[in-house]
Amino acid sequence: MSLAFAIRDFPSETERREKNLSNYDEIGDAVSHKVGVIGGDGIGPAVIAEGLKVIEAAGVNLEIHNYDLGGERYLRDGTVLPDSVLEEWRDLDVLYLGAVGTPDVPPGIIERGLLLKMRFELDLYINLRPFIVTGDENNDGHDFMVIRENTEGTYAGEGGFLRKGTPQEIATQGSVNTRHGVERCIRYAFQLASTREQQHLTLVHKTNVLTFAGDLWERTFHMVGEEYPNIETTYNHVDAACIYFVENPQRYDVIVTDNLFGDILTDLGGAISGGIGLASSANLNPEKTSPSMFEPVHGSAPDIVGTGKANPTAAILSGALMLDFLNENEAAQKIEKACADPKTQSGTTTEIGDAIAAQV
Ligand code: ATP
Repeated sequence: MSLAFAIRDFPSETERREKNLSNYDEIGDAVSHKVGVIGGDGIGPAVIAEGLKVIEAAGVNLEIHNYDLGGERYLRDGTVLPDSVLEEWRDLDVLYLGAVGTPDVPPGIIERGLLLKMRFELDLYINLRPFIVTGDENNDGHDFMVIRENTEGTYAGEGGFLRKGTPQEIATQGSVNTRHGVERCIRYAFQLASTREQQHLTLVHKTNVLTFAGDLWERTFHMVGEEYPNIETTYNHVDAACIYFVENPQRYDVIVTDNLFGDILTDLGGAISGGIGLASSANLNPEKTSPSMFEPVHGSAPDIVGTGKANPTAAILSGALMLDFLNENEAAQKIEKACADPKTQSGTTTEIGDAIAAQV
């Protein structure tokens, strides 16, 4: 079963060349890709080391720029994400991140100051997460993808406190949904669906309760859908989608949804498709006006640091997504195939990485 990432064909090779988006030279030889590597905290550095090992084994040339960022760095000298580093990143092709966050740093500092700042400043408006559910006697194995809007919604930070700490305290947290933001996300999802065999796209929202944002999402979904008459479309409320994820994920091909619903739904997707150690993700700027970022879905897992129990496969598959995005399609496919082989999936962090690298 192939993950059929499909971003390998999006935009098409011709479009990439026309728009000068490719990293290939005139005769088609791959050049070295400039990668910013943020190992981060906890198990992050260990799983990224395995990812880089596998990419090297696949014969892809990377020019690596290491960045020491995350919770540990913050505790050391208060640095989260300096603007100067963001500027440096604009010259890179992609970013490859392990995990950031440590239990000693108060919630929000690294999430908002590093991860969300990265998404907003680099305009990584697509969060793409592929899933594979293995088959049983009733169903064949199946792969599907969730496209989560990555820069707006409740994550935009609208809101605040009034009379904080008093009995009359008020806290508000708004959801920001712009026509521009919603439309570009939905358009990406339709384009992605059009490259896949099933040609099916589901909008997930909560239009019966979130009547303003939901209305904008639904209207935009139908409007863009008119440009894709071959794509069959469905709408699911997010609560129903949670049931279908568990009971019948085969009904899905590509799903598009807002930031918060996508965050929750993709953790559920990880749980039904082999667990957190396998879940990969891409934070994309499809127009390549800034580097896209690739990371495993899991966090820094402080409970297993240094035990060798961290499965590096999620990081390795995120590396395959990164190669796919860089047009290193053959290498990406080889890695994906090696990760899907049960023979590579036992042992310590390093043993799993070695087994995948050997197969590649
Ligand atoms: P975050 O908020 O950053 O997501 P978290 O502690 O909520 O952090 P994780 O760090 O993903 O979430 O850890 C959740 C659980 O999954 C932990 O028990 C952890 O050990 C386990 N886990 C996470 N990643 C892996 C992995 N690659 N291999 C094996 N177990 C993992």
